[in-house]
Amino acid sequence: MSAYESVLAARSCVENLTPLKTDCGRLCAGACCQGDDATGMLLFPGEEAFYDGCTFGRIIPAGFSLGGAPAQLFVCGGTCDRANRPLACRLFPLFLRFKEDGVTKLRIDLRAKAVCPLTDYGIRSLDPDFRQAARKAYDILLEDDACAAYLRDLDDAFSL
Ligand code: SF4
Ligand code: SF4
Repeated sequence: MSAYESVLAARSCVENLTPLKTDCGRLCAGACCQGDDATGMLLFPGEEAFYDGCTFGRIIPAGFSLGGAPAQLFVCGGTCDRANRPLACRLFPLFLRFKEDGVTKLRIDLRAKAVCPLTDYGIRSLDPDFRQAARKAYDILLEDDACAAYLRDLDDAFSL
C-alpha cells in the first residue's frame, strides 16, 4: 500500500465515529473546529491529494518537517464536507505514543487540553468503539514506512 492508500484506509476506520456516541460538539460549541487563518490540522503523508480543488479549506506549510518531509496544515473555515475531513480531525483528541521498547499506545493528545473538555475525563471516557477504530487506524498507518516515520516524529515533537 502507498501512504495515500494507508491514509485512505485509516480515514475509513473513523469515518462515522466520534469521541462520544452523542454529539460532543454541543459541550463546547465545536471548539476543535474554531481555528483561525494560521492554525489547522496536520495532514498525514499523501493526504494533500484529497484536497485538490477543495472549497472548504486550504493547505499551508507547517514550517517544520515530519517523517523527513515538510509538514502541511489543512486550514478550514470552521465547516467542512464531513466525508472529506482530514484524518487528524477524525482522530482528535487521540494521539499515538511510542514507548522506549517501540510499543505504541493510544493517549489523549495533550495539545487538545486547551480546547477539548473531554480531555479532563481521560481516555476511558471516550466511546470504546471510537477508541478501537482509532487504534485500528493507527495500526494501518504503522504498516506504511512513511506514515510510521511521520507518527514517530509527531510523538517526538509533541509529547510533553
Ligand atoms: S473539542 Fe472535544 S468535545 Fe468539543 S467537539 Fe472537539 S472533540 Fe468534541
Ligand atoms: S476540517 Fe471539518 S472537522 Fe476538521 S477542523 Fe475543519 S470543520 Fe472541523
